[in-house]
Amino acid sequence: MSFAELGLCPEVLRAVEDAGYTEPTPIQRQAIPVVLAGGDVMGGAQTGTGKTASFTLPLLHRLARHASTSTSPARHPVRALIIAPTRELAMQVHESVQTYSKHLPLRSVCIYGGVDIKPQLAELRRGVEIVVCTPGRLLDHVEQKSILFHQVEFLVLDEADRMLDMGFIPDIRRILGMLPKTRQSLLFSATFSDEIKKLADSMLKQPQLIEV
Ligand code: AMP
Repeated sequence: MSFAELGLCPEVLRAVEDAGYTEPTPIQRQAIPVVLAGGDVMGGAQTGTGKTASFTLPLLHRLARHASTSTSPARHPVRALIIAPTRELAMQVHESVQTYSKHLPLRSVCIYGGVDIKPQLAELRRGVEIVVCTPGRLLDHVEQKSILFHQVEFLVLDEADRMLDMGFIPDIRRILGMLPKTRQSLLFSATFSDEIKKLADSMLKQPQLIEV
């Protein structure tokens, strides 16, 4: 099984080739077709399995191949939100997004707390399709109205179990309450406790369960 056989568009395939990947990992083989078809995913995978590419590659394909359905005049509306528990993880995921989107006209930004908010405001003002972020700073931006949610089509929650451990679930629930109901959502977690399952129930629609 090759990346091309999974149905990814040429721009994404070129980036994968540039990265030197020859074949998809098990989570990628399972998750990519589901995400390409528009389905929700509940993914059980640890770091090191290739899970970042398993959601980023098909997400980029869908953003590139499907124009935003909104009639809003914003030239670069936020269409995808990827939320990670820590700044380090958000930065890693953002690096992957940049690597895999290098042949596409999509813009992304990484938003996290503990640093001056002004440069982030400037980046957001220029317009970005993809926001990789931590929950608290995302909410700061929502309060400042520097990020609008009405055109968000994709939501990814990465390492949900760590978000739970760090006390971020109330923030996540607030964010979920503000997002459009019609969207594609993916939740990744190394473990599925009852609380994670409850969160998944309120966030995902008929998700495909993928475990590696
Ligand atoms: P992750 O589990 O997303 O943290 O990815 C772990 C590492 O595997 C990262 O350094 C990726 O660049 C790398 N990687 C992801 N997918 C593949 C693949 N199909 N072939 C080889 N390396 C990969």
